[in-house]
Amino acid sequence: MNIIEKDRQYLWHPYTQHKTAATPIAISRGKDALLWDEDGKEYIDAIGSWWVNPFGHSNTFVADAIYKQLTTLEHVLFGGFTHQPAVQVAEKLLPMLPSNQKKLFFSDNGSTAVEVAIKVALQYFHNKGEKRTTIISFEDAFHGDTFAAMAASGISLYTQAFEGMFIDVIRIPVPVLGNEQASFDALENAIQSKPCAAFIFEPLVQGAAGMVMYAPESLDQLIEICHRNNVLTIADEVMTGFGKTGKNFACNYLQQEPDMICLSKALTAGTIPMALTTFTQELFDAFYDDDINKALFHGHTFTANPTGCAAALASMKLLEQPEMQANISRVNSKHLAFQEKIKNHPRVVTTRVLGVIFAVQIKSETNESYYGTMRNKLYNFFIDKGVILRPVGNIVYILPPYIITDEQLLKVYATIEEAIEIV
Ligand SMILES: *Cc1c(COP(=O)(O)O)cnc(C)c1O
Repeated sequence: MNIIEKDRQYLWHPYTQHKTAATPIAISRGKDALLWDEDGKEYIDAIGSWWVNPFGHSNTFVADAIYKQLTTLEHVLFGGFTHQPAVQVAEKLLPMLPSNQKKLFFSDNGSTAVEVAIKVALQYFHNKGEKRTTIISFEDAFHGDTFAAMAASGISLYTQAFEGMFIDVIRIPVPVLGNEQASFDALENAIQSKPCAAFIFEPLVQGAAGMVMYAPESLDQLIEICHRNNVLTIADEVMTGFGKTGKNFACNYLQQEPDMICLSKALTAGTIPMALTTFTQELFDAFYDDDINKALFHGHTFTANPTGCAAALASMKLLEQPEMQANISRVNSKHLAFQEKIKNHPRVVTTRVLGVIFAVQIKSETNESYYGTMRNKLYNFFIDKGVILRPVGNIVYILPPYIITDEQLLKVYATIEEAIEIV
């Protein structure tokens, strides 16, 4: 059996209907923005392998840090123990975050980071003797695939089989241009109608919805409404974190400060699965008590895995290098130039750019579903041309490693232009 036959025999892939799905591509090697399959075909990874990879594949700086940690202390339980790498991550990260963030809780992936934030929000009020059980989120949000994260998400394909089994969630419209007041009003109404514990949002960019963007001023207003009503705010920066929006965090664009921040994806430069939920001192203090029942009884076996921490530390060091910041600006200006070039094309509905994120919505005759015909046609066209892009319906987005070369970017743009003509 070759690898594809063995894969078919043994493996179950994410978000995949195996009966109708195309054969997966077996990747054997990666370097910088490139991947190679078993037959030696080259691909440009124009989406950073699901938004995790800012500094390129097989990055030796991160790999060396991981190796050094693996041969010093690969893992120790975090219940009752601590270690330098965890403390160093905190010392490096906290100065980059909004100034009210004081405490870090480690977990394994974006969904668990969200799960922890929602549990903390609910228990925060429980510990204070107040019953608040409703969460507010955005329509079309995506916060992950565990139960509370799914509940807060709004994409039905991902959640429809579990309807009726979720915690209570009120969804409000996203304050995209022209829709701001409706969003503010819906938030005020939600807070009046139910005992709301927290509002969770993807700050400035909703990734899985197709890189839907909205202004920092609008988010500031929504957070301000929450603060005024003693509703906690959770910024899910799992996608936006670590430079994607042009600043280290999307929250760095805001005047207001969220109470909690969820981080994962690029945290470890796409090497080791790890996540963080960060908190204000006030949140931590609501669990700090002589009564053991007030503690946060949540944990994962690999919490604060030292090797993951070493990867995160190396990753943050790379991010802050002037050359890396220059790469982010370079990709952004290339995106803006490409946007100018194609925005008036008759088949282009809209384009959006923030930081290294670019999105174009292509005109289609039918109402495109998430995994509809146009999406599949586009996806296959890109793969054929050696460019990895995963359109969301009729929205094509680019979120490349920051170190992608100009030449590679130009190839990605040219391939998208070609696709616009033929689909
Ligand atoms: C990807 C993502 C998640 C889920 O992260 P996983 O690591 O896939 O569990 C949560 N929130 C946002 C905004 C994401 O983009």
